[in-house]
Amino acid sequence: MAEVVLRDLVKTYPGATARATDEVSLEIADGEFMVLLGPSGCGKTTLLRMVAGLEMPDAGQIVIGGKDVTYLEPRRRNLSMVFQSYAVFPNKKVADNIGFGLQVHGVPAGEVRRKVEWAADLLQLTPYLDRYPAKLSGGQRQRVAVARAIVMDADVLLMDEPLSNLDALLRLSFRAELKKLVSELGTTTLYVTHDQVEALSLGDRVAVMRNGEIAQCDAPTAVYDDPASQFVGGFLGSPPMNFLTGTVEQAAEGSRLDLGGQSLTVPAALSAYAGKPLTLGIRPEAIEVADGDGALTGELQVLEPLGSSALLTTDIDGQTVKVQAPPSFRADPAERLSLRIPPEACRWYDPETSLLLEVR
Ligand code: ATP
Repeated sequence: MAEVVLRDLVKTYPGATARATDEVSLEIADGEFMVLLGPSGCGKTTLLRMVAGLEMPDAGQIVIGGKDVTYLEPRRRNLSMVFQSYAVFPNKKVADNIGFGLQVHGVPAGEVRRKVEWAADLLQLTPYLDRYPAKLSGGQRQRVAVARAIVMDADVLLMDEPLSNLDALLRLSFRAELKKLVSELGTTTLYVTHDQVEALSLGDRVAVMRNGEIAQCDAPTAVYDDPASQFVGGFLGSPPMNFLTGTVEQAAEGSRLDLGGQSLTVPAALSAYAGKPLTLGIRPEAIEVADGDGALTGELQVLEPLGSSALLTTDIDGQTVKVQAPPSFRADPAERLSLRIPPEACRWYDPETSLLLEVR
């Protein structure tokens, strides 16, 4: 096991105008499960491949377990990798697939067998050790790829979207298995995904990336509850955080956010925004439909029953706001709904920088 330190990693692919990673720094503690999350093309895979040694950075440094490995060959970094494609050998039985890396490293046959049996047991592959991959399901094949990675006793486990080829149900069950397995192993893990639920579920911390940079890196609850920017709030959550922009007005009872008809209390700490635009960020599940005593009124545009909840699309003074209501919620089209906005769920953003403002 080892700590992984990335310092100011810059990578520009030949012919590209923008940097794939732009001075990325990240410290992954010994035994930590770090997830890289972000939209397509934000640089997640490039960062992972640089840690693996499959891509060379133009500048910066990679330190694993206190050793500078920036220019070391992949096989000398003591890493294990699991990729999106199952990458199992079709002409080798499951046991030989799992033990392949060990055999290549000249590990004695008895030791290989012991480790293969251990990994097969952990990943529930014992009944399939004598089968060829063609006779396995997608989920079983992906478990073989994970088993092959964990038998190597690597310092660091690198995974690039390992669940993305699985169907929704398998993904869900394998996600939980993977979480349990990795926490038992305690191996330092760097995991790439563009699936936010997977990131929040698996990561000790989640590094949200955008345009080759890390927009925020924190515990899953922290990136979800306190998005450092409108980008992070708008990327995490399904549906994502609502943003409502207005102008701060000074009233006798304090500052209010004027939305062009209705208004909302603004924390005293933001009084410097008087006369200026300000953006409220609020999660759809934080808004409550109240019995007439809500702070805002929204006109119902669409009601979508989603099984475990009802998703409401409302219009507040021309701005669209999503509200997650209980599944039994009923209302007529165009009904005016009274919406309670709990002050403790409000996050405030500067519309110019789109960054979170400290109010506590
Ligand atoms: P995805 O989720 O789609 O895999 P990603 O976040 O992993 O995306 P990268 O694959 O790291 O993103 O790509 C970052 C940027 O670098 C993108 O703009 C991409 O087009 C570019 N890029 C990636 N690989 C290469 C390459 N081999 N040659 C040139 N440009 C590349």
